[in-house]
Amino acid sequence: MAALRLDTSVKFLKGIGEHRAELLARLGIDTAHDLLWHLPHRYIDASSVTPIANLAVGAEGAVVGRVQAKGVLPTRKGLRIFHAVLRDETGAIECVWPGQAFLDRSIEIGQVLLAAGPCRFYHGRQLVPREFVILAEPEDDEETVNPLAQGRVLPVYPATQGMSHKLIRALIGKHLDNLIGLSPEILPDDLRRQFDLPPLPEALRTVHKPETAAAAEQGRRRLALDELLDLQLMLGRARQVAKRGRKGVAFENKRELTTKLKDSLPWPLTADQRQAIREIAADMTSPERMHRLLMGDVGTGKTVVALFAMLLAVENDFQAALMAPTELLAEQHHATLSRLVAPLGIMPGLLVGRLTAGEKGAVRKQLATSAMRVVVGTHALVQETVTFKRLGLAVIDEQHRFGVEHRAALIGKGEAPDVLLLSATPIPRSLALTRYGDLDISVLKARPPGRGTIRTVLRSPDQRDKIFDFIAAQCRAGRQAYVVLPVIEETEKTDLLAARTMADTLTARWDDVKVGLVHGKLKATERDLVMRAFRAGEIQVLVATTVIEVGIDVANATVMVIEHPERFGLAQLHQLRGRVGRGGSESHCVLVSEKAVPRLKAFAATDDGFRIAELDLAERRHGDLLGERQSGAEDIKVARFPDDTDLLGKAREIAKAVLDQDPTLEHPDHRALKERALARYPKAEALFRIG
Ligand code: ADP
Ligand code: MG
Repeated sequence: MAALRLDTSVKFLKGIGEHRAELLARLGIDTAHDLLWHLPHRYIDASSVTPIANLAVGAEGAVVGRVQAKGVLPTRKGLRIFHAVLRDETGAIECVWPGQAFLDRSIEIGQVLLAAGPCRFYHGRQLVPREFVILAEPEDDEETVNPLAQGRVLPVYPATQGMSHKLIRALIGKHLDNLIGLSPEILPDDLRRQFDLPPLPEALRTVHKPETAAAAEQGRRRLALDELLDLQLMLGRARQVAKRGRKGVAFENKRELTTKLKDSLPWPLTADQRQAIREIAADMTSPERMHRLLMGDVGTGKTVVALFAMLLAVENDFQAALMAPTELLAEQHHATLSRLVAPLGIMPGLLVGRLTAGEKGAVRKQLATSAMRVVVGTHALVQETVTFKRLGLAVIDEQHRFGVEHRAALIGKGEAPDVLLLSATPIPRSLALTRYGDLDISVLKARPPGRGTIRTVLRSPDQRDKIFDFIAAQCRAGRQAYVVLPVIEETEKTDLLAARTMADTLTARWDDVKVGLVHGKLKATERDLVMRAFRAGEIQVLVATTVIEVGIDVANATVMVIEHPERFGLAQLHQLRGRVGRGGSESHCVLVSEKAVPRLKAFAATDDGFRIAELDLAERRHGDLLGERQSGAEDIKVARFPDDTDLLGKAREIAKAVLDQDPTLEHPDHRALKERALARYPKAEALFRIG
């Protein structure tokens, strides 16, 4: 076998082979590197393991023993108890797991278990394990059995069918020294000291073979920092590229098209819109490149602000592009922009995957010659075949739904375009600073006046009939409604069934009100068809899973019924609610829930997106801090939030220190950093080819 490298496929590692490699792949482990970075998700403190004979009634204890007997016992109250007798060389004890009869399928006679929990007296000593772990199968040799041979803290790994955590532990244990040998410290010494970090190889060893739980946590934090550092290096580099100082275009504020637009708008701009437009114009007319985030709740009117920026570029003989995450949104933007700029004699182009090859070709040609000045599209815009003659402004809508790479790719279509990112997910400013770093931020807080208010109410399920009648009444008065059901996983058949049942129920209920259904399992084209029919008013009630969450704008819709609102995050509920109240009439958001829990009451009481963002943040758990798909944050596996929030700042500082000194990471001291970050974010490679 060739020398082991971190990118070697695990199937070539001793003790693994084809079959086990396939099982490991299910856990996302393909390479030696992946195996090394497959970290325990919890630890069991084995330091308190006592001989079974010494286990005292009334105390907490941990024992290691072989399963001698086992079975499920029904109790008189109908509760089924799983029990197993464990024996070591000093004695035996009965362990009981009330209500966990299913354990009978995974625990077998002859296995060695570590079990920890309180010991009580009930016809004899009984251990009620709070936690347990299978240390060995009947056929395993003693070496893998003794947890104390592995250190006093026992790592438990994420596992899968056929690939148990103890097998993983054994495989990692076997290769750990070699793998760590391939993972030298990656940070320059001075930085590592400055930020007070343990050496990387030491951290890797500690997470897999910790002496204490505290040491394991310290090791994990070093690895979490490295993971965040990879991301921050790419984000930092993306910012550098986006800004590239002097090379930016200093547009001239000619007040030609922009003034014409202002004069042709059917309504006055809000104060927030005017302020944002001023900020954007200041950026665009300065020789520095703009890299600005326009943040505003749904319905606050971001599109028209973006349009001003686009026209400023166009009147300077540049092109402007707006990229949206879905075809429907792109088409909606296209329609809105077309309507708004028609009086100015501009015809925005549209580039989405659904077009025929011929149509796409025509758009590409016009973009290449600059015959087309304004284009709206999906990620079809960033395909290699698309070139712009003079892209001066890149606008990215719902920016969090694109990865760093897609954004970089669009920006890379121009010489040094200004960049405007749009986000309908308001977040508190302090958080925005950590998350978006050096981005400048404009905020739209107030909604345009004259728009209908949204009344939010809580109703219990037994009031459904009334709610349905209300929907029908609204529809008969010419309005439309959404009924949303949560689907946590689109694979959850029962959820989907619920949506379908709802659609069927409503269809059967009304002759004169048309009902449609959309869900994530539908093909994009079918979904599109239903959405279009709804927008056209051919369907009055749209039953939907959360696929309607983003950006859909049907001004005529005035009712939003949300079933099981308790299963949604507050920010998500707010996004859903934002689908109504877009026209002039009063709108209604009805939350149908068994219990009027405080969080839903709080939600019903406020329509301020920033306030809701704060509430949402308070109740969200780790990982989400970076936003669901924020900048490749789906790759964040080791870092946990809010515990590691401080590391985010640290990682940013380190990335900045490195990039300030060595923007393309050419220096030998930084080469390893660059390689590792690019291994994780391969598409960001382009960022380093730009000098
Ligand atoms: P966002 O993208 O922020 O959710 P949009 O840009 O789609 O919001 O605007 C929502 C609606 O408000 C659109 O129908 C738009 O035409 C309208 N609108 C935008 N600005 C104003 C304004 N100043 N006064 C009245 N209506 C406005
Ligand atoms: Mg929008």
